[in-house]
Amino acid sequence: MRRVRFLYPESKTKVLTMSYDDGKKADYRLVGIFNKYGIRGTFHLNSGNLGKDGWVKSEDVKELYSGHEVSCHTVTHPFLERVSSLRVVDEVWEDRRNLERLCGYPVTGMSYPMGTYNSEIVKQLEVLGIEYCRTTVSTEKLGIPDNFLMWHPTCHHANARLMELADQFINSKYTMPVFYVWGHSYEFEREEPKNNWGIIEEFCRKVSGKDDVWYATNMEIVRYICAMRSLIFNVDNTQVYNPTCQRVWFTCDEKTFVAEPGKVTCF
Ligand SMILES: [Zn+2]
Repeated sequence: MRRVRFLYPESKTKVLTMSYDDGKKADYRLVGIFNKYGIRGTFHLNSGNLGKDGWVKSEDVKELYSGHEVSCHTVTHPFLERVSSLRVVDEVWEDRRNLERLCGYPVTGMSYPMGTYNSEIVKQLEVLGIEYCRTTVSTEKLGIPDNFLMWHPTCHHANARLMELADQFINSKYTMPVFYVWGHSYEFEREEPKNNWGIIEEFCRKVSGKDDVWYATNMEIVRYICAMRSLIFNVDNTQVYNPTCQRVWFTCDEKTFVAEPGKVTCF
């Protein structure tokens, strides 16, 4: 059988994404660092805290995070498994509504406050239109998650193996590695044990500017993988129908092809 190997957009072979929670003021500086290095990510915001002392202002959300993704983190940051089902619905639905009004697009990504959840909450998120939700469980791996509603990141930025994992990622020969780093920007403000802003600068310098890396938001990865999984191939593996609205890249017999949206591509 002819072997098809999927690629990320523009024939990139790897993807890096960053995921930062809570929307505190240190985000202003962190976004500046990401922009300087062309690194992109997702910012999970509690709309009920925006504008409070120490948090990003509501009126800055659209411009500050442009080029990145704004995502839910609930209105008030409760432990979701310790509140009523109705409260879960309200916390997510209202966070979506508030953030969507600020950003001007559907906000359907999320990260769990405190990283905690249960199977009932996962089901509720599906009904609430959430497409993915990040946990705080570090896998120290570069895989595509089994279930995007329980998306376990590669590691926290303070993980002792961060730079080692970055090297593994840069040198990886595996198919479609995902390097997913999460944290809180306010953690960089701590001066002990060393200047923590230095950690993220060093990391960004190391992983930026690579021709084979796609620098993506969390949602861009979810939607690309979903499009990839929606492709319909013929039995001979010579034609592919792409029922989605996204271009999908792949190689076959050493040649690169693009499955064009809404069309059958012969390869
Ligand atoms: Zn949080």
